Amino acid sequence: MKVPKSHPRYISLKTRDLIADGVEKGITSIHGLIAHGRGEAFDYLLGEKTTDAAKKSIEAAAAMLLLAKNPVISVNGNAAVLVPKELVKLSNLLNAPLEVNIFHQSKQREIKIKKHLEKHGARNVLLPDKKYKIKFLESNRKYVNPHGILKADVVFVPLEDGDRAEALIKNGKKVVTIDLNPLSRTAQKATITIVDNITRAMPLLIKKIQQYKKYDNKKSLKQSSKIIKSF
Ligand code: ATP
Repeated sequence: MKVPKSHPRYISLKTRDLIADGVEKGITSIHGLIAHGRGEAFDYLLGEKTTDAAKKSIEAAAAMLLLAKNPVISVNGNAAVLVPKELVKLSNLLNAPLEVNIFHQSKQREIKIKKHLEKHGARNVLLPDKKYKIKFLESNRKYVNPHGILKADVVFVPLEDGDRAEALIKNGKKVVTIDLNPLSRTAQKATITIVDNITRAMPLLIKKIQQYKKYDNKKSLKQSSKIIKSF
């Protein structure tokens, strides 16, 4: 769809296009349209901007992901089409695999998501393996990869469904999510919830992680010593 940049809802309409295009390409499930619509409604109410509360959660999320031993980024069809480049960037920054995990079972769609991420530069995309599952979950999302979610201590799961967020926690994992609905079960169950649009939150999360990674203890000590020596 050709949307003029001057349109007051330009970003929102372009984002809708990405999701619709994802459905046409078989990357996003048709149910993903409904999930996106729910997100849009909350975004509208939040003023379509990153709140101070969300900024604080992004800081906590950056720290938790950086301190994790085995972080993993769980990807569904909506996240894959909305922020593929950012997911790949986060994966590289954290040295964490991307793991495809979808609610509506389809091997074909799983492979399409993997290929889509690889097209955007992903080098380590895992698929669920029916030989491995997490406990406390009945849906297709229980199947996991032994090199990814199964052994992860921190799972980053943007646009999650509540059942799985809860199951991941019961399996002893920390869950970081992005969800525009602060009332959803995911938002309520996760260890850290970033209540923001994934399209705005991902670049901010990446920036924060890059900033934290630059922390240099020696440099900090030098700066303190310099103050003392100046007396
Ligand atoms: P739950 O199972 O957690 O109670 P739900 O049934 O509403 O929630 P789904 O429909 O599986 O969950 O997932 C959609 C969730 O993703 C919604 O909470 C919606 O607000 C959120 N969401 C949709 N699009 C975005 C987006 N672009 N950025 C952030 N969150 C989004």
